[in-house]
Amino acid sequence: MQVLESTYRELREQIAQMPVIDTHEHTKSERFRRESPFSPLDLGYVGCNLCAAGASDEEAEAAENADRDPVLARKVFLKYYPYTRTTGYGRSIERTLRDVFGIETLDEGSFDTLWEKIRTGITEGSYEKWFKQRYNIRAVILDSDSDDEYPPIFFRSLRHANFFILADSREDLEALESRSGRSIHSAAQMREAMWSYLERLLKEKKNVVALKNNLAYNRSIYFQRTTLADADRAFNKLFARKFARHASSWIDTPHRSYDELAPLQDFLVHESVRFAQEHGLAYQIHTGLQAGYTNNITDSRPSHLINLISEYRRVPFVLFHGGFPYCREWGVIGKNFPNAYLDLCWMHIISPATTIQMLDEWLDYVPNNKIFGFGGDLHMVESIHGHLEIARDNIARALAVKVERGDLDKKTALEVAENMLFHNPNRVFKLNLELE
Ligand SMILES: [Zn+2]
Repeated sequence: MQVLESTYRELREQIAQMPVIDTHEHTKSERFRRESPFSPLDLGYVGCNLCAAGASDEEAEAAENADRDPVLARKVFLKYYPYTRTTGYGRSIERTLRDVFGIETLDEGSFDTLWEKIRTGITEGSYEKWFKQRYNIRAVILDSDSDDEYPPIFFRSLRHANFFILADSREDLEALESRSGRSIHSAAQMREAMWSYLERLLKEKKNVVALKNNLAYNRSIYFQRTTLADADRAFNKLFARKFARHASSWIDTPHRSYDELAPLQDFLVHESVRFAQEHGLAYQIHTGLQAGYTNNITDSRPSHLINLISEYRRVPFVLFHGGFPYCREWGVIGKNFPNAYLDLCWMHIISPATTIQMLDEWLDYVPNNKIFGFGGDLHMVESIHGHLEIARDNIARALAVKVERGDLDKKTALEVAENMLFHNPNRVFKLNLELE
């Protein structure tokens, strides 16, 4: 135990020095932060935990809209805090509270101090300091709809194909027509509108390196092969209603179910993958646990993706979140398919213990050039601290076990860490960054 602990400490120190490519963030822009200050309720996955701990709908809503009634929001947060602080999310937040905000115990008094520090903490140009100096993060893959300016450290991932894929009413279709500047009267025209819209975004937004598919929040990620004829039949269901939007002020818009629309959605998903292929983009896809609560975990099984990954062999698929709780299934896909990559974003704080255990296992059968070591998946730049520290701990712990067992020597273990944290995402997202 003593030996393991000293190996861990040695590796942990080295890993702390390694530059990181952060593969997934929802960081709000500096401008947004200054104009719409965050509250302590935005620190991390607070909302998910509150509901899991039994918060009522009213309490959850109060927490979500902290600015409306700050006193009530604080009361809700603190009521459940003794139960949520022990989870991975909670421990990540505690680490941020301690190291970033200098708060050891969160209570009524320190809560307001924290709120004030969050409100005033971000000034123009401060992201440079946070990412580069404090975190040693060299690049961030940003998942955000924002049109705001971001510093050059940010690269983009676009999830805008969802506007098309999830359209479920005639009203949605009209919105797509104005978004894309095309008229849409068939599945084929919908594909063309999606395609030209994404092409326009590629030109407008700087540094786009990936498309993002987060449909696991809405439906199963099994995307069947379908035909244009089947897609068209589903498309026609959007027209089942007589009137378009001009009449909707007095007639409710009927929405079609995703089951009815599946052939159209599947068709458009395949087309979005083909778009990634033709434009040299990676295809990031949510697998495993969904944020929030009451979602259907079986929708997000990594093995639902096998047909897609094996058909589009030239597209690098980046599978998110350790596929938790289908972690072994997720690992096997990274092993079986040359074009499937395994991204640990968010996973380190979903369960630190599972991540340590699984890294030990994954590295037994997945080549170490297939795993991406860190993505924060957070809105607040300050919250990345706790998550990144836990990620470094987890990686060092798993590798220390391997070194002590005699699976790897220390030098190799450190090379594996550097590959996961820097070289693998650098290569797959074609960032061309130098290590130093
Ligand atoms: Zn995310």
